[in-house]
Amino acid sequence: MAQVQTVTGPIEAEELGTTLIHEHLRNADEAVHNQWPQAGAAKEEPPHEVAPGEDYDIAVREAKAVVDLGIKTIGEPTAMFLGRDVNFMRRVSEETGLQVVPCTGIYTYDYLPQFFFNRDPDQIAELFVADIEQGIQGTDIRAAFIKCAADEPGVNENIEKIHRAAARASVKTGAPIMAHSRPASNTGPRQIEIFLEEGVEPSKIQMAHTGDTDDLDYIEGLLEKGVWIGLDRYGLDIFLPYEKRQATAKALLERGYADRIFLSADSVATTDWFPSNVIEQLIASGAANEWTIRIVPERVLPELRESGMTDRQERTMMVDNAVHWLTG
Ligand SMILES: [Zn+2]
Repeated sequence: MAQVQTVTGPIEAEELGTTLIHEHLRNADEAVHNQWPQAGAAKEEPPHEVAPGEDYDIAVREAKAVVDLGIKTIGEPTAMFLGRDVNFMRRVSEETGLQVVPCTGIYTYDYLPQFFFNRDPDQIAELFVADIEQGIQGTDIRAAFIKCAADEPGVNENIEKIHRAAARASVKTGAPIMAHSRPASNTGPRQIEIFLEEGVEPSKIQMAHTGDTDDLDYIEGLLEKGVWIGLDRYGLDIFLPYEKRQATAKALLERGYADRIFLSADSVATTDWFPSNVIEQLIASGAANEWTIRIVPERVLPELRESGMTDRQERTMMVDNAVHWLTG
């Protein structure tokens, strides 16, 4: 069987085990932290803002909690602009035993740094390929997949360029793509179209955040292309309430799509995107509700079992799909 790269080295794909495909051990603005290392002050329960250094303890605590719940591996889609630090991931993995599958790529909805703005997709793809073939940030840790994003601004010129770069790196290396999408802006179809134009196999494409809609016509429109979908933001009620996410999952299972679906939460052990008081408001208002790395094993899976999900469907979604997406 093929191998999969993790932050502690390659493993046999069959060793992946129960996998949450989309969870972040840390989310930090790398430019701000480079310029103002002291930025961020309060420390509270996740996902509250934390001071430098305290993010590690919280990531370890959350990783341990999820290992205790039977999770063996996470896909860690923290790319450029989300604060990717593979040494941080490696330390958390070594301390907790949680296997962490890292990525390359760039997370942006519109803006590109001058370095990328002034380069073409092939030149950008070279950087992604280097992460996949040689190693990330001067380490021997190699990226297992490629991340890109489209959101409210749509698939504009900059976003198309990054999608083409991701696609070319995928075609060159065989690494799969995880594309952050926004169903409310109908980004999915155009994102897939670009990948297919570039010659990416549909089986290498995962459309993250497809579960932010319960529009089954939209979802099946993507599935008809042969891609994977992420029902991967459980707890982020601000985009779609939990009950609607579960109803969508059940409907898709009934329609026979277990072999196309990933269940995850897109959790962040810590984030500095918002000041603490805003995060508190988001939680108090119900916009984020039980939004942690634990929600899928702790709540989502037991409820789906209750409502008729078979052992086979669960194993397909939580174990086999990661193997197939990551190894082609
Ligand atoms: Zn994410």
